[in-house]
Amino acid sequence: MNYESLQTALKHLPLGGLRYLEQVGSTNDIALAWAEEKKVRDYSLVVANEQIAGRGRNGRKWQTPPDSALAFSLLLRPNKVEASQLALFTALGALALTTTLQENYSLKAEIKWPNDVLIEGKKVAGILVEANWVGDTPTSIVLGMGINIHPTAVPPANELLFPATCLDVALSKPVVREELLSGLLNALIDWRPRLGGAEMVSAWDEHLAFKGQQVQVQGRARQVIHGTLLGINKDGSLRLDTVESIHFGDVHLRPSRV
Ligand code: ATP
Repeated sequence: MNYESLQTALKHLPLGGLRYLEQVGSTNDIALAWAEEKKVRDYSLVVANEQIAGRGRNGRKWQTPPDSALAFSLLLRPNKVEASQLALFTALGALALTTTLQENYSLKAEIKWPNDVLIEGKKVAGILVEANWVGDTPTSIVLGMGINIHPTAVPPANELLFPATCLDVALSKPVVREELLSGLLNALIDWRPRLGGAEMVSAWDEHLAFKGQQVQVQGRARQVIHGTLLGINKDGSLRLDTVESIHFGDVHLRPSRV
């Protein structure tokens, strides 16, 4: 992967700009700094071959060794409605990936609410949405995603709280990162006008991991909610048979057996 191969693969997309870096701290940091430049446009994209300080939610580490993963951050300039729906951009990214895997690779993937994508119960990708703010209005949204492509992307099991896999293993063939990215961005652009709409919520609900299963949700205060996972509510919150809604926040969802 290099700048030219990305440019060729993405040339049909309405990108505002493209940056490719061999090694970064975090693609989200580059995109957030880039977004401060007023003339930077919607759909500007940062792609890196390696992240040495990639992060997940709440400062947790996301590993992206060189030549092994697809790590990118997409900069979006939200309209007024979108600016009030920041939390849904995580689902937008997850849905774009699951629908691309289904349509372009015939691979079933599921969304572990709120921000991970699983294949056969193992984490293949993580999403981190961040924003630049003026007062309480987000002026730019950065949608960061790390996808494990080759086996070298998968961290050792003893460093993980949740099992992980990669696309090559799931498909039994090597995946070309540029091709995946092209399909994924296409899907994201396609879903975006339906952000928060009934169609999006129902597609999200269809791809939801652990539906109908006994799960536990652990919050920051370490309290654990148990119940059967029923689905996604209209506003994107999670519904269990024991509690009507669990909202976005630093919560961990697990099947009860893990
Ligand atoms: P959890 O999956 O435990 O509910 P989370 O969804 O909040 O947590 P994130 O913050 O999205 O997790 O991601 C960070 C976590 O993901 C790390 O703590 C680590 O356990 C795991 N991780 C880090 N790098 C990878 C990777 N390349 N593939 C799969 N899992 C990873």
